[in-house]
Amino acid sequence: MPAPLIDLHAHSTVSDGTDSPAGLVAAAAAAGVGVLALTDHDTTGGWDEAAAALPAGMRLVRGAEFSCTSPCGREGERDVSVHLLGYLFDPAHPAIVAEQERLRGERYARLVGMTERMAADGYPVDVDAVFAHLPEGASAGRPHLARALVAAGVVGSVDQAFAELLFTGSRYYVPKADTPVRAAVEMVTAAGGVAVFAHALARRRGRVVEPSVIVELAAAGLAGVEVDHPDHAPEDRALLRDLAAEHGLLATGSSDYHGTNKTTPLAAETTAPEVLDALAERATGVDVLG
Ligand code: AMP
Ligand code: ZN
Ligand code: FE
Ligand code: FE
Repeated sequence: MPAPLIDLHAHSTVSDGTDSPAGLVAAAAAAGVGVLALTDHDTTGGWDEAAAALPAGMRLVRGAEFSCTSPCGREGERDVSVHLLGYLFDPAHPAIVAEQERLRGERYARLVGMTERMAADGYPVDVDAVFAHLPEGASAGRPHLARALVAAGVVGSVDQAFAELLFTGSRYYVPKADTPVRAAVEMVTAAGGVAVFAHALARRRGRVVEPSVIVELAAAGLAGVEVDHPDHAPEDRALLRDLAAEHGLLATGSSDYHGTNKTTPLAAETTAPEVLDALAERATGVDVLG
């Protein structure tokens, strides 16, 4: 029997994926994934449904992807938007609960702002259409607006919506007040979790941090970096792998699956079993099993 695949980054309808948490677990099982991390943006709202849907032998790594800002590491340049994966933290930790609630509020308000800017320019979108498929308490994201634009026939795909209208810096882009990444690392760690820097060198999404920023975060408790990610070029994977080895960071791999909002399939990138073991070993927030 082939070893079960380990995919440590996936989204459900509780944020900007298109599979329900239970549907995501089923899709992962069908794709040969034996260990799946559910990492919705700024919420743990899908954990219970995903856990209840686990088939025998499959494991769920409870996680979330936190929206953060970070110094870029270059003199005189403004901060960059980054994502931090938190795994196996206590979801009831007061700082986590408060910050996730604040971030979801920021997400909602900024998406309303973006939608209203587009409507004012004559695009056939409105707030009701954008939020029509968002479950109660879920994290809103630009992909929700992108889908509304596809449904209205403005663009042909979610990717095209990002490329032409929703990219960071577009005239319709509205920023949100994210968490300083160092504070997020400390918060996840204080809640018994393990912090991993997500897609740190995904250059196609915009400006990225210098490696020195990751090294500084390692001193603040960062446990790992996502090395194998669909948006990482081969040379950047090599750079991150070397950085991880040099600074004792875990090197993970994951698909960042979003259902039909992105073309990447589950388990497109995976994590080595010994890396998962080391990650689970560090966590004291919740159990990795079941
Ligand atoms: P937001 O969280 O609202 O800022 O939206 C960013 C999210 O949109 C990211 O987490 C990605 O999942 C997704 N995204 C970013 N760029 C693209 C793209 N070019 N095509 C599809 N989805 C994207
Ligand atoms: Zn996303
Ligand atoms: Fe991300
Ligand atoms: Fe993600």
